[in-house]
Amino acid sequence: MKFGTKAIHAGQQPDPTTGAVMTPIYQTSTYAQASPGDHKGYEYSRGTNPTRKALEDCIAALENGRFGLAFSSGMGATDAIMKLLKPGDEVITGNDLYGGSYRIFTKIFSNYGIKFHFIDFSNPENVLSYINENTKQIWIETPTNPTMQIIDIKAVSAIAEKHNLLLTVDNTFASPYLQNPLDLGADIVMHSVTKYIAGHSDVVMGAIVVNDEELYKKLWFIYNACGATPGPQDAFLALRGIKTLHLRMKAHCENGEKIAAFLKNHPKIDKIYWPGFTDHPNHQVAKEQMNGFGGMISIVLKGADLKETFKVASSFKVFTLAESLGGVESLINHPATMTHGSIPKEEREKVGVTDNLLRLSVGVEDIEDLLVDLEQALK
Ligand SMILES: *Cc1c(COP(=O)(O)O)cnc(C)c1O
Repeated sequence: MKFGTKAIHAGQQPDPTTGAVMTPIYQTSTYAQASPGDHKGYEYSRGTNPTRKALEDCIAALENGRFGLAFSSGMGATDAIMKLLKPGDEVITGNDLYGGSYRIFTKIFSNYGIKFHFIDFSNPENVLSYINENTKQIWIETPTNPTMQIIDIKAVSAIAEKHNLLLTVDNTFASPYLQNPLDLGADIVMHSVTKYIAGHSDVVMGAIVVNDEELYKKLWFIYNACGATPGPQDAFLALRGIKTLHLRMKAHCENGEKIAAFLKNHPKIDKIYWPGFTDHPNHQVAKEQMNGFGGMISIVLKGADLKETFKVASSFKVFTLAESLGGVESLINHPATMTHGSIPKEEREKVGVTDNLLRLSVGVEDIEDLLVDLEQALK
């Protein structure tokens, strides 16, 4: 089946008891058993719930994977993946990372004896000098947040495979519509479902997709044992959102391209980060591994200090100043103080997250209104 058909149907059949076309919200914590252990595959909703199962199967299908797991947030999913590790293990990850990922690595898992290396993945070979006998995982995000670096997933997965390391790709920014890391050799795909997949800024959720059954069983054990699983109401909302993922992503890409072109030579803008530009350092890799360049764009305001940057950020009428991304509505974010506030100033400035950087999540509104709004705010 093709992507749009899977987005609408995968994991879902009319409800066997009533014929309801939409997957019901199974608002139940527990399930009747005929005799101890004799049940229909559902025992207790921390571990299994039919609404959540439909969502998990749907997301797995969109990532061309065999097994999906939904979590109560993207960070819940990240937490579960890190719990595959033991004290003494090492992880190699990117130097331009979602702030919450950086925070959980450095402030939580570092305390449990896990060591993290934050490196530049623009040349995948860079990873080689960090691999030793304790290295267990590589964790990458591409496009990166917020500077839209592109990491060659195939090249990194070849290195991971050769050294027997698990490769996780945080695929939140691309969504399964634009990029399928498992097809490129990754072992684990992680999503903040909160963003493009659910797409309407009305639910917080995470997901993991894998192909390997043993790995799935280990992750399911952590999911059930630690309990960061979402309720059925949120699973229903995410399932509903997914049905238009392909339509939304096409519109995000179209609007993104027009806005990137408009901002590229704008006199108020010093630098713009978007992988669709032919002069983006890894444009060719993006072209090969993605089905489009998306609607995430970061801009550096020319000569602006923090105060002037705040002024621009607060001047939008259609874009909303808010954290998060990937919803139908356009958002603007100031990474240095908002999404990336937990990264020390010297660390974030090294990768270009300066005080005058703004990140746009281009929504699916009419492009004319978005362009007018950008022009007046920059003025
Ligand atoms: C938002 C986000 C997360 C965290 O997901 P939550 O659903 O907010 O917990 C992780 N990675 C990326 C790239 C994100 O944008």
